[in-house]
Amino acid sequence: MNRKIWISSPHMGGEELSYIKEAFDTNWIAPLGPNVDGFEQDIAAFLGRGVHVAALSSGTAALHLALILLGVQAGDEVICQSKTFSASANPIAYQGATPVFVDSESSTWNMSPELLEEAVQDRIAKGKKPKAIMIVHLYGMPAQMDRIMEIADRYDIPVVEDAAEALGSSYKGQPLGTFGALSVLSFNGNKIITTSGGGALVSANEEWIKKARFLATQARDAAPHYQHSHIGYNYRMSNICAGIGRGQMEILPERIVQRRANFFFYQEAFAAMTEIKFHIAPHADYYSNHWLTAILLEDAEEKGINRERIRLALEKENIEARPLCKPLHLQPVFATAPFYGDGSSECLFEKGLCLPSGSNLTKEDLARVVKAVKGYFAS
Ligand SMILES: *Cc1c(COP(=O)(O)O)cnc(C)c1O
Repeated sequence: MNRKIWISSPHMGGEELSYIKEAFDTNWIAPLGPNVDGFEQDIAAFLGRGVHVAALSSGTAALHLALILLGVQAGDEVICQSKTFSASANPIAYQGATPVFVDSESSTWNMSPELLEEAVQDRIAKGKKPKAIMIVHLYGMPAQMDRIMEIADRYDIPVVEDAAEALGSSYKGQPLGTFGALSVLSFNGNKIITTSGGGALVSANEEWIKKARFLATQARDAAPHYQHSHIGYNYRMSNICAGIGRGQMEILPERIVQRRANFFFYQEAFAAMTEIKFHIAPHADYYSNHWLTAILLEDAEEKGINRERIRLALEKENIEARPLCKPLHLQPVFATAPFYGDGSSECLFEKGLCLPSGSNLTKEDLARVVKAVKGYFAS
């Protein structure tokens, strides 16, 4: 059997173990310590724009704290991109609030500004102004941020930016993860860099980040005994995991180059195959880290080609590929949530496939993927 090719696997840089060894040598084996502080500073320096960063146990925890900081409570509504991973919307439910899902537009595959405005107007007309807008940059592709921020500002609704997949991407030169009132990064094992598991909350508002650190460490008031006047969470990042993160930050620029190179390699390899369309940046203002390379199978069905058959053909070659994420308004768990859409994200789900995209794929790995896809088309 051929060696397994994963869709996106961890890729260490080399210095991670030295940061972990330092943690052991100094006995900082805890959810605080010099690696946590250092990792936060590294992320803040990478993003620039004077942002502050809280390193947390996961991206999901960061999204949850973002909603808490914005005062989202039971009975509230939060607008959320439908085409995303369930972790974007789950924290809305943790708060007892209702997600209001909005469909994608076809250029970036992210939230449609027109449908966003329609949703905001209709929710206000129905008597409830949304408490926040959760925007996602799927597979690293920037959403139409000018138009989305303009709508959010005009209706005075804060934006939570789920940039879990978009570290290293930018829009008009501004790094993703710096647009939201609060923005979120993830360092899960499959992301562009990893801490094995982890996340971060990012904001220009230092008070919010301080409050996030407070809530993430069980909301302990300043007192010698355990004194609490808020409900707290155990959401801080471990100093061991943050050591991995510091090592990963050293090679993040290389990882961005490598992920993007995968995308361009596939694009060239499949250039002659008119059925395969790519998730291309619509304009030079959009700079994607191409965390995952996603393709759409257009006008292929009549030839008996569809994304599921290609996925199975790859699986037979021990190559992992995955359909684009299923829109959340179609998920059983969110079946009763309001939805504003035109079928775009459902259509993307039916036609789309994510190809192996790790920064650690070799030329031979990529060639194997291309051969398997081309072999399927030729058969
Ligand atoms: C990975 C991911 C998350 C969740 O991050 P975790 O660190 O796994 O909790 C949230 N949103 C999106 C879009 C993601 O890809």
